[in-house]
Amino acid sequence: MSRFFSEKWKDLEPYVPGEQPTDQQYVKLNTNESPFPPSEKAVERAREEAGKLMLYSDPSCTELTKCFAALYGIREDQVIFGNGSDEILNFAFMAFCDEDHPALFPDITYGFYPVFAALNHVPYTEIPLREDFSIDTAPYLNRNRPIFIANPNAPTGLSLPVSAIEEILKTNPDSVVVIDEAYVDFGGESCVPLIEKYDNLLVVQTFSKSRSLAGARLGMGTGNEALIRELHTIRYSTNPYNVNRMTMAAGIGAVEDEAYTRRNIEIIKQNRAWTCEALTALGFSVIPSDANFLFASSDRIDGGTLYRKLKEKGVLVRHFDKERIKGYNRITIGTREQMEILVDKIKEILEEQP
Ligand SMILES: *Cc1c(COP(=O)(O)O)cnc(C)c1O
Repeated sequence: MSRFFSEKWKDLEPYVPGEQPTDQQYVKLNTNESPFPPSEKAVERAREEAGKLMLYSDPSCTELTKCFAALYGIREDQVIFGNGSDEILNFAFMAFCDEDHPALFPDITYGFYPVFAALNHVPYTEIPLREDFSIDTAPYLNRNRPIFIANPNAPTGLSLPVSAIEEILKTNPDSVVVIDEAYVDFGGESCVPLIEKYDNLLVVQTFSKSRSLAGARLGMGTGNEALIRELHTIRYSTNPYNVNRMTMAAGIGAVEDEAYTRRNIEIIKQNRAWTCEALTALGFSVIPSDANFLFASSDRIDGGTLYRKLKEKGVLVRHFDKERIKGYNRITIGTREQMEILVDKIKEILEEQP
């Protein structure tokens, strides 16, 4: 640490993103990106916008907000866009949490929550998942503390029904409940229809997964207009041009081509079922997933070893060196061809085992 680095960051442990290697081509199943390119409309619109990059982007995201609100059947003052949904999540920690409003989230969930909490000096409590990795909602009821739940959860892929989330909303009327729906398009039930009914609900979604725009960085929050206004206050106090021109244009193109997104989601679901069956046949225990990944472990090989051997064979998956989940790997669902390669390599690795 240099003598210039502020003391206030001395314990900050930054988020560790999944590898984005440049040394060779991998079958890349480690960061839950889409295997499909963005919609042609998204690419076309972004290309047209490139020639206007000398001008700042629209800080109100007017056109994107209009078409997104129309698609979701909500009002324009109920939406905010961010530089990825990570930015919206950080804004939510900044806006709704502090020493007197410490956060609650599961012990096994998106690894960014504890980092955002630390960054914003927000104390937090992690509530253990059940033995089967499902979320027990009882410890979240009547807490009156800000709550963050990824639904479906990551890296497990398990989801809660909207009715369970509604219980949490009802019993914490004076705290914001943030539902992170990064994976909801792949099988979960969305809470967006509840934003009219509960003024403490913030739903966060992303264009990174089902809409094939991870590299563009576009996420959104939807909720009661007062919450959204406060998030805009934070946004205008950090970076009003947080969504750049090409990304905004690509987002509009993606929303216009909803049919393409729906088609890709169906293919991912089919490939997920195929992969789940193939891994189960190889003796893996695979958690039933509502997301675009599977979380799987095997008695025949430990999680870290499988991760390393797959990497040697050119297949990248995500392994978390964390107490309860060390035995598992999180495998993004790609094309059928990619999943066949994965399964072939796993077969080879198991055959090479002593
Ligand atoms: C991928 C992911 C995000 C972040 O997505 P971006 O929009 O790319 O920042 C948020 N939450 C969860 C649970 C995720 O898996």
